[in-house]
Amino acid sequence: MSSPSESHRERLKQAQKIMEQPSDYKVCEGCGSIVTVRTTACPSCHAYKFDETEPRVVAQAKALAKRQANSVLSSDLA
Ligand SMILES: [Zn+2]
Repeated sequence: MSSPSESHRERLKQAQKIMEQPSDYKVCEGCGSIVTVRTTACPSCHAYKFDETEPRVVAQAKALAKRQANSVLSSDLA
């Protein structure tokens, strides 16, 4: 089991990865989760609408890293 601070570090690392490669990810319009572009339905809220624009993905990755959101990052789905 990893400590909360450790999982926060993981989250930051993941956010970093997303910011470096935003074209591999998209943002769920329903709940704001970041998922990989191959995802068809959001695993959190089952929405089918996504925003794939890179500025949106980068902004969302930053926001998630900052506030340790409950929203899912793609690492949580592995
Ligand atoms: Zn969603």
